[in-house]
Amino acid sequence: MLGLNLRQIATKLQNGSLSAEELCSRCYARAKKLSELNAFVTMTYEQGLQEAKQSDQRRKQGASLGMLDGVPFAVKDNFSTKGIETTCASRMLVGYVPPYTATVVQRLQDKGAVMIGKTNLDEFAMGSGSVESVHGPVRNVWRYPFRGAANDNHSNSKEAIQTDGDEDGDWFVAGGSSGGSAMAVTTGASLVAFGSDTGGSARNPASYCGIVGLKPTYGVVSRHGLIPLVNSLDVPAVLTKTVDDAATVLGAIGGHDPLDSTTVTDSFDPFTLPDEISVKDLTIGIPKEYHTPGMSSDVLQAWSKAADLFENAGAKVIPVSLPHTQFSIVCYSVICATEVASNMARYDGIEYGYRDKETSSTEALYAATRWEGFNDVVKGRILAGNYFLLKRNYDHQFQQAMKVRRLIAEDFQKVYDSGVDVLLTPTTLSDAIKYRQFAAIDHRAQSEQQDVLTQPINLAGVPAINVPITLSSHSLPIGLQLIGQNFQDRQLLTVAKWLEQQVQFPRHILEEQLSALESTR
Ligand code: GLN
Repeated sequence: MLGLNLRQIATKLQNGSLSAEELCSRCYARAKKLSELNAFVTMTYEQGLQEAKQSDQRRKQGASLGMLDGVPFAVKDNFSTKGIETTCASRMLVGYVPPYTATVVQRLQDKGAVMIGKTNLDEFAMGSGSVESVHGPVRNVWRYPFRGAANDNHSNSKEAIQTDGDEDGDWFVAGGSSGGSAMAVTTGASLVAFGSDTGGSARNPASYCGIVGLKPTYGVVSRHGLIPLVNSLDVPAVLTKTVDDAATVLGAIGGHDPLDSTTVTDSFDPFTLPDEISVKDLTIGIPKEYHTPGMSSDVLQAWSKAADLFENAGAKVIPVSLPHTQFSIVCYSVICATEVASNMARYDGIEYGYRDKETSSTEALYAATRWEGFNDVVKGRILAGNYFLLKRNYDHQFQQAMKVRRLIAEDFQKVYDSGVDVLLTPTTLSDAIKYRQFAAIDHRAQSEQQDVLTQPINLAGVPAINVPITLSSHSLPIGLQLIGQNFQDRQLLTVAKWLEQQVQFPRHILEEQLSALESTR
């Protein structure tokens, strides 16, 4: 049941073969059983069950709020949730309980959806592995070496998941920074989860986990209540098992919000995607700069197969150039650090969360609190950001980065103006990597490898989505990225659904393993 999509679940809730209470209890049970994956940092059992019961009540009275009524969802722990601890996975915010709820969370709740918990992430969403968290790292369920795993049940099946047993005790990273949300959806502990995507944080873990990760056009979805990393790049993102589910959620959360002046003022109409889709009249661009060194042969193969699928279906597939792609990592790192430097100034030990015991002076209290409260990645970015903002560096560093950012955005615009509808690229250079290997590389180098295919999209503001495609030769998920035009989220999702229909990602392999695990553990 936890493998079903939203439409299937809604039908069951509608015809009474499933209650929201039962559904939420199943999700909790799954989350608990898989707690060693560390996807959740807070579970909201009581409140969730209460809301699920209310949803059942509404349905009985014929007053259902629609398709999302009674549907469980999880929220990355950098979205404010009234009355529920919100930590951003940082020591700085442990114990912080916000007095208000983020717009996206509120909008889903207004449709009757039930929040079941808050998910793990890299501290303040800075990272791409979900390993830099005060709560400990998120572990990827794919090939996870469960002790006493039910894998034996499948040992005769060709489709059995390979696990690494305890051979080296290591496991694969879930990607990040929204790894907890991605893992909540991947394991069926939640049907929907919110992530945030500033440079790839939703698409990257979606790719490593074999799920859909949508970063809508900047401005379509309100950032109110999303604790900022880089205000000009942050976008609330949607993680689901299918493209249809992502479209449903986008329909519920999109549109103007008076509390976020950067949201669109035009009306935003929810849409459903057709089942019969033709890509015959489309032009799909393949940006040559995305052929970057270090791309695995599995990823290259999946990319070229997908391009063939489009071509065989009558679409025009053409090579295109986004010449400023090579500057995006350095441009991002300057813009990110400068915004981080000002965003993090609010954490001084006075208003929120952690406060050090140092009392010799106010300045000493600030310094000690910030030294103890932030991890090294956050501190490094604050230092770099303040450096870039020094009067003598402002023009050379920050202003230059802003100019390069415009050139990167113009690259996309030119390609779309030339008649390209959607771009097709990989999301990540390879399938998921093992934790030890990941942790051995320093954070900056890591970012260059992990974000190279996703960051330019945030700098341009355009929408993009990860679609799970196939399993690699290591039996791990591989995803591809489709990149759309500004405010053409509907077209992007339609093309993504078509691709999803063609590739039939073998999710059932994981479903079967998880159900077997549930019955044996
Ligand atoms: N990995 C990138 C960073 O560390 C992107 C993070 C994000 O999208 N939140 O900044």
